[in-house]
Amino acid sequence: MQGFWSGKRVTVTGGAGFLGQHVVRRLRSYGAEVYVPRKRDYDLTTLDAALRCLLEHPCDMLIHAAAYYGGIGINVHEPGRLYYQNLVMGANLMEAARLAKVAKVVNIGTACSYPGYLEGHLREEDLWAGPCHASVVNYGLTKKMLAVQGLAYKKQYGLDSIHLILTNLYGPGDSYNPERSHVVAALIRKWVEAELARAPSIEVWGTGKPIREFLYVEDCADAIVLAAERYQDTAMPLNIGTGKGTSIRELVETINDLTGYAGTITWNTDKPDGAAMKVLDVSRMDAPDRPAPGPGQDHRLVPGPQGRGRRQMVIASRSRQGTARS
Ligand code: GDP
Repeated sequence: MQGFWSGKRVTVTGGAGFLGQHVVRRLRSYGAEVYVPRKRDYDLTTLDAALRCLLEHPCDMLIHAAAYYGGIGINVHEPGRLYYQNLVMGANLMEAARLAKVAKVVNIGTACSYPGYLEGHLREEDLWAGPCHASVVNYGLTKKMLAVQGLAYKKQYGLDSIHLILTNLYGPGDSYNPERSHVVAALIRKWVEAELARAPSIEVWGTGKPIREFLYVEDCADAIVLAAERYQDTAMPLNIGTGKGTSIRELVETINDLTGYAGTITWNTDKPDGAAMKVLDVSRMDAPDRPAPGPGQDHRLVPGPQGRGRRQMVIASRSRQGTARS
């Protein structure tokens, strides 16, 4: 690990943000020379600035961790800004990276890119197996386009990139702004404020039934640095998560028990639940070198009849013939 990063020039967009700051700290501790572009110097939503950034600060690797993001609330209030900022910033950075001849790009994606109506854990092969959940499509699709651009740029220009799909994060540096926060930070703030104000009740959103996966941000940063070093497959995204699901109700009960809050909890079902279940399958993360599907079975990053649909078809034909492989 140390040897690989020693003296390596790495640019981390979003390197001052919630996740990025933890990635930057690790890279520096391993001896990398890290540059963090700031918005006041380079507005990455313009191609000109994105290219200037990479030419004025040449790097061996670009980790694109910048995002205009938030929890389910921001998707309701700012769908247009979410869409434009993330789509354009990502597209520009990939284009700038190939013009500046960056050796490898690491794109930070999101579990919101997955089909929003599948049952069970989300596997990389399922990325194209259905539409994103309507509550997060504005954000999810923009990051998904980076996976498409990565593959297109590998084919046409030989640019190496990988696409990491992250689950819900929490931990130091998270946003506690109720307009933008994800559920863990949002609930911690609600409980702290209720305790301080001695409020008789706390309002929580939705039904409490949805299942989410929560990953500590520092563990996520470790996984990103490891994947940046070792994972090479442009055509196959890589999930980064715990694989463990927790219902929002369980989360609420945990925070309530830890704080000892004695008031009542009300569930506002006018607020969105979002996807019923968003939990990643992390078996590839545990064994990143496992063989890719063989010829004719390559249901990798190409929109089409792959993912669940294909798997179901394959399973059906296996039960008929007893020989097909999934
Ligand atoms: P998501 O994973 O993209 O859906 O985003 P969030 O991290 O915002 O989690 C949203 C889930 O938590 C939904 O099921 C919400 O109904 C539920 N939830 C309950 N209370 C809150 C809250 O105060 N803020 C947020 N953001 N979500 C809440």
